[in-house]
Amino acid sequence: MEAMEETVDQSLREMRETFASGRTRSIKWRKAQLGAIIEMVKDNEEKMCDVLFQDLGKHSTEAFRDELGFVMRSASTALNFLDKWVVPKKSNLPLLFYPATGKVISEPYGTVLVLSSWNFPISLSLDPMIGAIAAGNTVLLKASELSPNASALLTKLIPSYLDTKAIKVIEGGPDVATILLQHQWDKIFFTGSPKIGKIIMAAAAEHLTPVTLELGGKCPTIIDHHSVSKDMKSVVKRISGGKWGSCSGQACISVDYVLVEQSFASTLIDMFKPVIRSFFGVNPKESGCLSKIVTKKHFQRLSRLLNDPRVKASIVYGGSMDEDKLYVEPTILLDPPLDSEIMNEEIFGPILPIITLRDIQESIGFIKSKPKPLAIYAFTKDENLKTRILSETSSGSVTFNDLMIQYMCDALPFGGVGQSGMGRYHGKYSFECFSHEKAIMEGSLAMDLEARYPPWNNFKLNF
Ligand code: NAD
Repeated sequence: MEAMEETVDQSLREMRETFASGRTRSIKWRKAQLGAIIEMVKDNEEKMCDVLFQDLGKHSTEAFRDELGFVMRSASTALNFLDKWVVPKKSNLPLLFYPATGKVISEPYGTVLVLSSWNFPISLSLDPMIGAIAAGNTVLLKASELSPNASALLTKLIPSYLDTKAIKVIEGGPDVATILLQHQWDKIFFTGSPKIGKIIMAAAAEHLTPVTLELGGKCPTIIDHHSVSKDMKSVVKRISGGKWGSCSGQACISVDYVLVEQSFASTLIDMFKPVIRSFFGVNPKESGCLSKIVTKKHFQRLSRLLNDPRVKASIVYGGSMDEDKLYVEPTILLDPPLDSEIMNEEIFGPILPIITLRDIQESIGFIKSKPKPLAIYAFTKDENLKTRILSETSSGSVTFNDLMIQYMCDALPFGGVGQSGMGRYHGKYSFECFSHEKAIMEGSLAMDLEARYPPWNNFKLNF
């Protein structure tokens, strides 16, 4: 670890010197790095898909959609819009200040730290870096130790494409993260669990460093079967795709559980079964389309959640597991006890509880009784229910009649609230996430208002 401490010291020194040189502030430099990220992904598409398969059993089609393609689009957006984003924003000052003028300019924070997660190890590492670079920062990435092949590939590739004095990668787990967190950064961007998010925030507080925390939680999905009865086939396909077709449910914005009226539950379960079979065949383990559980520890966690006898009794589909292959079958539970662990911790796996309610309007109270989720999904055409969801609940995002695509949309901010995180990024929001908005006022010496100065004469001056 002594060697690591030295590496971190030296990396930070170099990044600070580079930032101080002003090189990373140049728009030309930023664009060159963003272009190089696109080249890096394009040139190494196959290698990246290979490591995602090794670490997570991710199919290359899924890997391209959720990671490689996503990163290239994100870097292209930053490249295409950077000239606009950096333009200072003019502020309209009150007339009383005339002829002074005001504007807001975006300045880079300086040297930033990105700590990322294993479930989308390429995109969750490169996407925040894109924002940091677009905003003109130097940046150090530590990817997750739980996706070691992706982390090793990024450590190899990044220095051969990007400016090594400004953009660095360090491999390692919590011990390395601890060393990194002992240092002073100008901004920390963290993707991971709420539990570790607290450690990050406490460490950042030592230096009053601003943080963005992209955390997780339990994302509910409401099915208002009355208003979407004609579209139920699509609803079930979308939920199945969102739950089982993206890293086997190991995604922060995955559907955690479904809320539906009791009278419709058995129809819904019958609709899920053929869709799951059509996605993964009769033996999903051999389908090649279902990601594996990332580690034995995570497998054992899911196994523990499922093997609670009361939860086990609620299995209505699936339930088989294979520890050697880190495989958990797409599984559906009907009304597991609400006080069970599976209904109180983020599932992060291919298990889908269906919770029944007498009336779908009760879903609002159910969601409000839990910590604020990263995403709420609702399949409904009932405008009254939509309004209630928007006005009575709080979450990072709300998506009606679809799932997870809000993440893919550069035009929308992505981030949590409360337990699901703080701060936001994607598209222009990434640029803002890594910029300090500095207020600039250009005063004038042409006129002077005597009322500003003592001696006071009871004149009520109100700027
Ligand atoms: P994690 O919190 O265990 O790890 C995240 C990062 O923190 C890793 O780089 C890890 O090395 C580091 N870390 C672990 N222990 C640490 C410690 N004691 N001190 C300092 N750093 C430490 O999370 P994870 O298992 O990688 O990811 C799963 C969680 O992340 C889930 O809660 C999920 O919802 C969330 N997540 C959120 C998003 C998002 O965009 N909001 C995306 C993916 C995952």
